[in-house]
Amino acid sequence: MDSNNLPDSLKKIIVSEEEIRGIISRIAQEITQDYSGKNLLICGILRGCFIFMADLVRHLELDVEISFIKASSYGSGKEPGELKIVEFETLDKYKDYYIIIVDDILDTGNTFYYLEQELKSKGFAGVDFCVFLDKPERRQLPVSAKYTGKRIGNEFVVGYGLDFNEKYRNLPFVAAVE
Ligand code: 5GP
Ligand code: MG
Repeated sequence: MDSNNLPDSLKKIIVSEEEIRGIISRIAQEITQDYSGKNLLICGILRGCFIFMADLVRHLELDVEISFIKASSYGSGKEPGELKIVEFETLDKYKDYYIIIVDDILDTGNTFYYLEQELKSKGFAGVDFCVFLDKPERRQLPVSAKYTGKRIGNEFVVGYGLDFNEKYRNLPFVAAVE
């Protein structure tokens, strides 16, 4: 889908395809430097991570293993609800690994805060967070990501994996919903 076919409510581009390519190559370089020679698991939070993570791992010059968990704090619409995490137990077999949790966007911080508490007790060599977008103004809990693609303002955004009622995940860029 390209920007010419978009509804008027999605005309404001927040991150272009070109900017995305730059972000991917920068973060991939940072991770490649930081984790060379280490056992690394890249674990994505479904479903929003799927495009960002697919782009990112293909630019890493490292041996990595890949896993996913599902965590969702948004039901339908734009307001967060109760956090649900599934497939958590599958991480147990990576105990001696460094783990990077990958998500589309860091918002209130609820998801990462909760995950950090859970992961601390599991004995990983290290746990870090990597997000494509960050909305620092929205933070309710003290969490931050080691790797951040771009900081944006307090707007609801879609595309590049991010949805609005499950639509628009396949846009190759990020747009604000007006
Ligand atoms: P947090 O727990 O940090 O509040 O929420 C993070 C999750 O909320 C993200 O993984 C994403 O699923 C959802 N989210 C937060 N802001 C946005 C947004 O602007 N657009 C979309 N589509 N999802 C968002
Ligand atoms: Mg999410």
